[in-house]
Amino acid sequence: MQSEESFDDEKTYPLNKRLDLDKIEVPGDVRLYVHEPDSWQAVVKQGYEKEYCYAKSPGEDHFHLLMAGEIYVRRGNEKYCLTCAYRHGILSHDRLHWQHRKRS
Ligand SMILES: [Zn+2]
Repeated sequence: MQSEESFDDEKTYPLNKRLDLDKIEVPGDVRLYVHEPDSWQAVVKQGYEKEYCYAKSPGEDHFHLLMAGEIYVRRGNEKYCLTCAYRHGILSHDRLHWQHRKRS
């Protein structure tokens, strides 16, 4: 039998041992797909330097602040939080989105 490993600090302690995985509720299928995978990159926001989403929500007059650790998508300097990227048709929940596209 293997003995419990010991970890010096929070950072080296595996996340799955810090979280109570039995209590996590997954809100449905959270996988997302990018319509134009060649143009977009998924990025995890690092640090606390202020960066903003390029879009505003309907009825709101401010740009969203991207939070440290937030996943967002970028194309060059264009950055979108996942909600705005979804609303702008950059992302999809549809695994087969490339099959369901309108043909012109
Ligand atoms: Zn946004």
